Amino acid sequence: MLILAKIIPTKFFFTFRLVQFLPNLKFSSLALTNQLKFLTKGAFTPLLQSCSSNPSQLKQIHALLLTSGLSIKNSLLTHLLASFIALGDMSYARQLFDEMHKPRAFLWSTLIRGYVQNGQPNEAASIYKRMHLLGVRPDSYTFPFVIKACAELPEFKAAASTTHAQVVKYGMEFIAVIRTELMIMYVILGEVGLADFLFKTMVERDLVAWNAFIAACAQNGYGTKALALFREMGSTGTRPDAVTLVSALSVCGQLGYSDTGEEIYRIAREEGIDCNIIVENARLDMHMKCGNIDFATKLFEKIPRRNVISWSTMILGYAINGESAKALSLFSRMQREGLRPNYVTYLGVLTACSHAGLVSQGWRYFNRMSRSDDESIKPRKEHYACMVDLLGRSGRLEDAYNFIRSMPIEPDSGVWGALLSACVIHQNVELGQHAADRLYELAPDIASYQVLMSNMYASAGRWDFVTKVRQRMRNKGVRKIAAYSSVEFNGDLHVFYKGDSSHPQSKIIYEKLDCLIKQMKSMGYSSKTNSVLHDVELEEKELILRTHSEKLAIAFALINVGPERPIRVIKNLRICNDCHTFSKFVSQISLREIIMRDKIRFHHFRNGVCSCKDFW
Ligand code: ZN
Ligand code: ZN
Repeated sequence: MLILAKIIPTKFFFTFRLVQFLPNLKFSSLALTNQLKFLTKGAFTPLLQSCSSNPSQLKQIHALLLTSGLSIKNSLLTHLLASFIALGDMSYARQLFDEMHKPRAFLWSTLIRGYVQNGQPNEAASIYKRMHLLGVRPDSYTFPFVIKACAELPEFKAAASTTHAQVVKYGMEFIAVIRTELMIMYVILGEVGLADFLFKTMVERDLVAWNAFIAACAQNGYGTKALALFREMGSTGTRPDAVTLVSALSVCGQLGYSDTGEEIYRIAREEGIDCNIIVENARLDMHMKCGNIDFATKLFEKIPRRNVISWSTMILGYAINGESAKALSLFSRMQREGLRPNYVTYLGVLTACSHAGLVSQGWRYFNRMSRSDDESIKPRKEHYACMVDLLGRSGRLEDAYNFIRSMPIEPDSGVWGALLSACVIHQNVELGQHAADRLYELAPDIASYQVLMSNMYASAGRWDFVTKVRQRMRNKGVRKIAAYSSVEFNGDLHVFYKGDSSHPQSKIIYEKLDCLIKQMKSMGYSSKTNSVLHDVELEEKELILRTHSEKLAIAFALINVGPERPIRVIKNLRICNDCHTFSKFVSQISLREIIMRDKIRFHHFRNGVCSCKDFW
């Protein structure tokens, strides 16, 4: 109070004291109202700031404004509105907004922004519609958030074109921040060409715009486009910053381009660009995602000021590379060194347990999280999904199901998806059907779940159900993601699809494949034809398996990649049973290490054995 008295005018100090003791005061007191009449905006702001994290005090201030008649001053309510939005109380924020007399565009924008930031895009869109109907002209703050909201709506595509048309109608398409949001929106929509067009007409392509476009491409599966933009940016003389580097390194991790990533990092260092801890962590993550465990470990030890993200990156990295023991021992070391794990760290720990089938250890860590006083590490949906995965894949399907039923939060598609995957592995159609029903409700458009369902029915020989799932996918317009495998060679990405014969070396690739299979058969390999999901003849099944993308990619790498380097293959979906066996045999016959990254984890094949110990 003393400190406040020095910096805040007396009139304000009086008000502040009143607010402190408000519950004991009669609001209608004439004296109080008189004092509040003099309350200026200048005095009001510090008052609000001092109460900004306390909703009940804020509500008391609101009550004061109402009873004193000051609530007609929108400028005062604006500050309150911003405070409630920052606290995430959108229903109170809305109440305040509805009290306002003819709110200006800025206030509409503030409310729209609040809804977007608090995960309520539908509300944001409906407020924008109302604003439009009432004829309030949007300002440059309105559209960036309306566009962000569009990307979250089920009718995304239609909303996107309507919004773009309105941006043009109001003549705002050249405002940099709006144009940047439109660009990001089109990348999310998969219309990269359109995004590119918007970018190239952009009057001033500053670092912010480059960073936004590169990050949007990196985060939405357009890695090669992001890298091309990164190079183009360099050629225009725009210097990258830490944000650009993080996006570029993350793309290199996704694509398995660790050499390119290292080159980018080296040049950045040489050019004196600030490679802070965020960049160092991105570099660690990239190497872990490329399967370079030893190199990442060396880097980690050299980072002078490691933070919780550095540790969590390593723990999760070890886990997805099948090095569960290393993940758990690093977790112990982290705690010995006095660092507090966060929820991401625990995600790594549970993933490590899940990938190694360590059920009792998994329970121990999960219970530690649940019982913790620290709210920030209480289990979230991702942790529940991890536990369901751990229990389910270890064959404890009933335990997994009971665990879901006991969840204090509503299970999401990730949780049911984990149960469904386990049911496919252990061929429990009855429970799998139950998980599938939930997934139809929660995520009817996600192709990978539909494919899982169809796999489950196929392996149980229920072709009638397979047909039904496929029919439903067609009706809903859900398209199955085409499986592909890729190999980076001489700076180019070589991509192979099932039965692909488009590669210039196609002829010798198939010859190599035939030769390998012949050798393997003499060693006892037989095709795992239950990986084939069509009700076709055995011979045909063998043929389908023989041309899986992983096999083509491995054969290509054996022909081209020198023996001094391991063979690195990236697959966009899970590796199938047969290709897993095939890769083990190849690692034995060719005496080469094969590092395969599938959608979820790594398989390091050496001397006929996989690091996953066939548990995946
Ligand atoms: Zn396969
Ligand atoms: Zn494996």
